[in-house]
This record gives sequence, structure tokens and C-alpha cells, in this order.
Amino acid sequence: MVLHSSMLRFYLGASLNFDVIIIGGGLVGASLALALGKAGLKVAVVEPKLPQARSGVWDARIYAISPGSAAFLDSCGIWGQLDRTRICQVEEMRIFGDESRSELGFNAYDAGLRELAIILENRALQETMWRALPEVPNIDVVAPAECENLLLAENAAELTLKDGRILRARLIVGADGADSWVRQQAGIEVDTRQYGQMAVVANFSTEKAHRNTAFQWFLRAGVLALLPLPGKHVSMVWSVATERAEELLALTHQELAACVTLASGGVVGDLQVMTPAAAFPLRIQRVARLIAPRLALVGDAAHNVHPLAGQGVNLGFRDARELAHVLGRSGAQTDCGDYYLLRQYERARAEDIAAMRLATDTLQKLFGSASPTLRKLRNFGLRVTDRQIFLKNLFIQHAVA
Ligand SMILES: Cc1cc2nc3c(=O)[nH]c(=O)nc-3n(C[C@H](O)[C@H](O)[C@H](O)COP(=O)(O)OP(=O)(O)OC[C@H]3O[C@@H](n4cnc5c(N)ncnc54)[C@H](O)[C@@H]3O)c2cc1C
Repeated sequence: MVLHSSMLRFYLGASLNFDVIIIGGGLVGASLALALGKAGLKVAVVEPKLPQARSGVWDARIYAISPGSAAFLDSCGIWGQLDRTRICQVEEMRIFGDESRSELGFNAYDAGLRELAIILENRALQETMWRALPEVPNIDVVAPAECENLLLAENAAELTLKDGRILRARLIVGADGADSWVRQQAGIEVDTRQYGQMAVVANFSTEKAHRNTAFQWFLRAGVLALLPLPGKHVSMVWSVATERAEELLALTHQELAACVTLASGGVVGDLQVMTPAAAFPLRIQRVARLIAPRLALVGDAAHNVHPLAGQGVNLGFRDARELAHVLGRSGAQTDCGDYYLLRQYERARAEDIAAMRLATDTLQKLFGSASPTLRKLRNFGLRVTDRQIFLKNLFIQHAVA
């Protein structure tokens, strides 16, 4: 089912001039539009697809949203509109290595937090955002629409759509995902490395209660995570070599449930498939610049990391939060495409993005290696970290940002 166009107030051609045109209305682009729209900027969101409406069926694409991202979405007016019955708090995390007794645990209570993360469905979040966009008077949704040409001039940018419409703005934001068209048009280089892995996702009902715990196993065969959903349900993200992913996708529901029950050591008892498996290819991307004259990149257009830390969209929300902060702080009279403002955004985001890329890539290599020395080291590392309160607090501070 697709969102009906009557639910949205589409751009009808009344105005061609905007402060900011956001290309890509995914989670990051839509959140940025709401933040900028609420700050009084005149914003257009250009998106080729209408999002799918939520349904009774649980979405296999689930996000672990950090408390920091939740606060940002709240400031965008989104958080309170989400269906509470489809959200689950993570109060505890248990991470296992590939040797017995190597375990690392995090607890929200010990860290003085209400939760470590909030698990919710991609489709529900996307749909809630898209319902909110037309309610902000200075946001225009241009969808479905396809981009044809992008011109970045000294004083303004011009976007030509395939249907011939021309939109102008002070600033173009590329929020169009990992294969960003905007990034390509701006000539920004990207370094891509395929992991040769796929993330297999599926939802299960469980025999035992998960007690609001997120489980993760760093196995030689890949990284397996079971994230808690409301009631006795969990969502799986299993990052495995592409051939193994294809094998998992070919299993019957019973075979898949048995396989995941075994791999997870039966922590939540026997599993039953609730939402069938789907898979996403994994890669790491390093983008040479986050900005160009009259242009900024956010979300997966700006960085792509392994999902083992569940941080990709959180990183994107932090881009959106920072860009909205920089542009909002500069005031309505300032040129929001000013290069020095964009440099502030780029500088502010550099460290967080580099740290997340390094951490996820290193963990992926460390736990993917067959070397006995590395095996000892990684399991030793888990056990030692578990006893270091200071280190654990550092990790938590970064994960909840
Ligand atoms: C299996 C898996 C699990 C994950 N789990 C987590 C998690 O738990 N927590 C977390 O933080 N992250 C997670 N991630 C990462 C997360 O999915 C991404 O970081 C996030 O979806 C990026 O959002 P985005 O809005 O930047 O890009 P996208 O979601 O890719 O959205 C891009 C948008 O741009 C549109 N678009 C594309 N091309 C054009 C064009 N030419 N013109 C206009 N619009 C265009 C698309 O239609 C789309 O709407 C996971 C990723 C995977 C693969």
C-alpha cells in the first residue's frame, strides 16, 4: 500500500524559489526538512518515491534509534506521533564473542539512563515524517519527481526536474542515499569498499521474554543481532558472507527459525518467523567532502558504515541536527548557502563520522578474522572492557548521542 496523494500537500508550482532544496526524502532528508522548516526556512523536498504506508505486518527493516536521535526527532515534532505500541526500549545489551565466557554487558540503569536505544520500524517512522511534512507551512513536498540536472552557481543553485520544472535555492542538500546522484553531480569523490557481506533481516516471535535486552554475537560466521520488539518478538540483523546470506534466504521459515535459535544459543527460547527474511548488501564508503559551493551532503550520501553498531541512521540524524543548527543559528537574513557556514557544518561532523567508520570497520575486521591470535585478542578485549566501568561509560556516551 502506498500513501495516498490526498494525504500530502504537494508542490503545485506556486513558487520556484526556496532557501533549501533537499534531494531525497528518506529518514535523514525528511528530518532535516522538518528541522529547517520549523526554523523558518523555505524548504522543498524532492523525492522520486512515495513511502509505503505502515501495515499490520511488522517491518523487517528495524532501527535502533539512540536517545540523542529520539530527542532530535522530538524537536522535529515527530516523536510524540509515533505509535507507542510498536516501539520497544532497550534497557540492556549483551554482546558475546566467539569463545565461551567472553561477554560484554551494558545496562541503562547502571549508566543512569532510561534506555540505551529505542527500537522502531523504518516504515512507521518514514510514514510519520511524511505525514508531518505538509503540516509545516513553509515545506513543499515535490513528489514523485525525478531530477534531471543540477547547476551549482556562485549565488544560487538550480535543479531541473525530468518534467521540465526548475527549482532554485540558496542551498542544495544531497540526502539521496549511498548511491547519491547529487554527490555525483557535484563531482565529490567517494571511496567504496564492498564487504562481500549481506545483512539478512527477519522478525521472530520468541518462546521466552527478551526483557528489553538487545543481544549481539560476534561470530566467525558473521555478526548476529537480536533486537527486542514489543511483546515476545525480536528483530534479527545477521551480517554474513554473501553466499551464506543466499543460503539463509533459501531456507524455509522453520529451517531459518531453527538456525537462528541455534546460533543465538536459545537465549529467548525457540523462535518462529514473523516477518520473512530480506537481505541488504553491505559496503563502507568514505566521501572526500561533505560540502561543495551551494551544496551539503547528509546521511548515507555522506557516509556509509557497517550496520553492526546500528549507527548509520543515527549518524545521519546527527548530520541533520548539526546542519539545521548551523543554518538556524545564522539567522534568516544570512545566505544559508554561504560557504563559510557550510564549512562549519563539515568541520563539526568530521570527527563523529571518522570515528564511527573506523570503529565499525575495525570491529568487522577483528571479528571476521580466522587468525587464532586475533581471536584471543578480541575475546580478551570483550572480557577486559566488561570490567572497565570508565571505558563502558565512554562507549555508552557515544552510542546514546
Ligand atoms: C540491514 C541494515 C540495518 C540497519 N540498522 C540500522 C540501525 O539499527 N540503526 C541505524 O542507525 N542505522 C541502521 N542502518 C543504516 C540505515 O539504514 C541508513 O543509514 C539510513 O537508512 C540512511 O538514511 P538516508 O535517509 O540517509 O538514506 P536512504 O534511506 O537511502 O534514503 C535516501 C532517499 O533518497 C531518495 N533518492 C534516491 N535517489 C534520488 C534521486 N536521484 N533524487 C531524489 N531522491 C532520491 C530515495 O528514494 C530515498 O527516499 C541499517 C542498515 C542496514 C542495511
